Amino acid sequence: MTTLVMKFGGSTVGTIPGLTQVLSIVLYERERWDRLIVVVSALDGVTDMLLEAGSLAQMGNRRGYRRLVATLRTRHVSLLENLPLGAAEKSALQTDIDRLWFDLLDICQALSGESSQPPPPGALDAVVGTGERLAARIAAALLRQNQVRGVAIDATDLVITDDVSGSAEPNLARTRQRIAGQLLPMLDRKIVPVITGFIGATPEGKPTTLGRGGSDYSASIIALCVEADELWVWTDVDGMMSVDPSEIASARVIPFLSYEEVAEMSYFGARILHPRMIAPLRQRNIPLRVRNVFKPQQPGTLVQAGAIGAKAFLKAVTSIQGLGFHAPARGSLAGLATFMDTTLVQLRYPPAEVMIAEQAAEYSFVCYVIPTSAGPDASHNLQLELSDRLKHRDDLRAWSVTLVSVVTVIGDRIGESTLHSAAALQALTSVRVLAVAHGAARCSISVVIDPEDADLALNHLHALILKR
Ligand code: ASP
Ligand code: MG
Repeated sequence: MTTLVMKFGGSTVGTIPGLTQVLSIVLYERERWDRLIVVVSALDGVTDMLLEAGSLAQMGNRRGYRRLVATLRTRHVSLLENLPLGAAEKSALQTDIDRLWFDLLDICQALSGESSQPPPPGALDAVVGTGERLAARIAAALLRQNQVRGVAIDATDLVITDDVSGSAEPNLARTRQRIAGQLLPMLDRKIVPVITGFIGATPEGKPTTLGRGGSDYSASIIALCVEADELWVWTDVDGMMSVDPSEIASARVIPFLSYEEVAEMSYFGARILHPRMIAPLRQRNIPLRVRNVFKPQQPGTLVQAGAIGAKAFLKAVTSIQGLGFHAPARGSLAGLATFMDTTLVQLRYPPAEVMIAEQAAEYSFVCYVIPTSAGPDASHNLQLELSDRLKHRDDLRAWSVTLVSVVTVIGDRIGESTLHSAAALQALTSVRVLAVAHGAARCSISVVIDPEDADLALNHLHALILKR
């Protein structure tokens, strides 16, 4: 029995041309696999707006959140009106969606303190996860209209997580149980479930979300639990690229990558995939394909276990923001680590990892990478907050914190010899390098630099990749 899980990103389900492609891909693959599962993200940009609506509601800005919710409603309704649906399907979908709007407004109202009810547990996550619930209903209706037994499913019933709001971690054992009880029987009945990515719930049913970009992670957890043969992530780019194509036009598709390489790329800022999605796939060696929904004839990128080719070579370069802590003396690393951890927890950021720590007699430097799941402005906001807090800590007064860029070159086994780091550093002679580190999986080399130099460094390193 063959099983395929396909995840469709926000840029693919957000427009009529995108949804038309989604439909034809499902119709085609349905003939080729015994079991098909679809996972969807919210329409492009919707999660950002929901986050803002939630925080406006919390601040009691009634006009603010109402305006946003109204804009979102118009966007979904106009998509729905332009979908090729029959009258019955359309009106059922409309009712379904309206119910979600009422719930959304209710929760926002409770968050803002205007209603007599206190906000329900997990209210903010419930607000933010509404985008996926809307998208799943729209996609499932389109499938049903086309003779596929599509059923929208809220992952709050399937993906069971811990209680960390905004960045929850799935509990595999419980999730597997739910999936066995609720999802597998549907697959046996030839239903194509359209499951919301990004969202989950605690065992008590309190809504949670898996961090920004978390739909990929949902898809890989589901792929693991149903023992899928493959996971395909459909997006609007041609695959995993050698560099961010919006930064450098000569970016090219990488045909093959190992799990380790992809994990490093995503962790160090290739925003196309969620960094935590790789581990579940690796557990069962489930191949991952990243493909362009608008060019389904192209193979995209195939991600699998193991090294490909006999010799190590550079494949990609990424950049991500980080925070650099400096002290003009031997500063306390332990004190700093605790300070950083508590601040992140208090401000509800996902945990950040130290990527490098250096100490000399008269100098200490520690660099943290802020996961992309924390959202686009996280590093900047954190830097402001942390500087402020450091001033009030006598024991940590020596430390200052600045924004840095971490630029990483990735390639299988490039960490095994100094050849590649030497070449990388040589390409960067015109850039001031603050620190250098090798990645844990020996397939990456990172340099920490001033954010102003990031473009230059990306250009030089990408030129090096193209040369090899
Ligand atoms: N919609 C969520 C986000 O924007 C999850 C995802 O797209 O994967 O972060
Ligand atoms: Mg994504």
